[in-house]
Amino acid sequence: QHHPERSTVWVGTGRQVPIGPETFTFIAGPCAVETAGQTLEAAQMAQAAGATLLRGGAFKPRTSPYAFQGLGVQGLEILAGVREATGMPIVTEVVDARDVTVVAEHADMLQVGTRNMANFGLLQAVGEAGKPVLLKRGMTATIEEWLMAAEYIARRGNLDVVLCERGIRTFEPATRNTLDISAVPVVQATSHLPVIVDPSHAAGRKDLVVPLSRAAMGVGADGVIVDVHPDPESALCDGPQALLGTELRELASAVRRLPPVL
Ligand code: PEP
Repeated sequence: QHHPERSTVWVGTGRQVPIGPETFTFIAGPCAVETAGQTLEAAQMAQAAGATLLRGGAFKPRTSPYAFQGLGVQGLEILAGVREATGMPIVTEVVDARDVTVVAEHADMLQVGTRNMANFGLLQAVGEAGKPVLLKRGMTATIEEWLMAAEYIARRGNLDVVLCERGIRTFEPATRNTLDISAVPVVQATSHLPVIVDPSHAAGRKDLVVPLSRAAMGVGADGVIVDVHPDPESALCDGPQALLGTELRELASAVRRLPPVL
């Protein structure tokens, strides 16, 4: 049972990328922007596989303060250069309300990560930034809390919110998080907002990215967001979950083979 209205959120200066019920949007890119060359290569892999939106973290919220924290504004400049080279609009995370303006100047879509889903000051700031928002589910948040976080953004006048299920914390250690696939139809029954799935951050393991992407499409998600890296073994962030270009193309064709969800 779907909500009677389902919205489409358009991303990019020419509103070229729809995220909504008409299409299955394929978002891919490196977990973190490391260098201009690595980001361009990852973007070209993503584009060759059929991705229409480029992901890449310039501000990285890491569990450990000793882990790579991202290149910050330099990373945003690299992303903007790669958009210039490939034509792909960019989604990137903002972790601090003070950075919203600079991230919005460079990016086409602002990502709020799992660790900040209930950072209400940040939600209000992205609600005023004039760019679409990708709102990840907090790893310990209920669906109701996640939808209320989206309301914080909407209340500031920004209705262009896309929800992203990225796994929740459970007792099961085999995967980094447990992908709550049922969240997709549950959300779609009560909310008009598009909802996509991040199988890479859910599982933390690349061997599960294809089956979880197929599951996402099978339950009617509006797209997936997937990590890709030209050399996952040398990645500064989350290498074990990153696909290579060939694997990303296999994922795209595996997803395309599924019949559309009515
Ligand atoms: C990410 O997408 O780069 C990320 C850090 O994801 P999450 O907030 O879901 O952990």
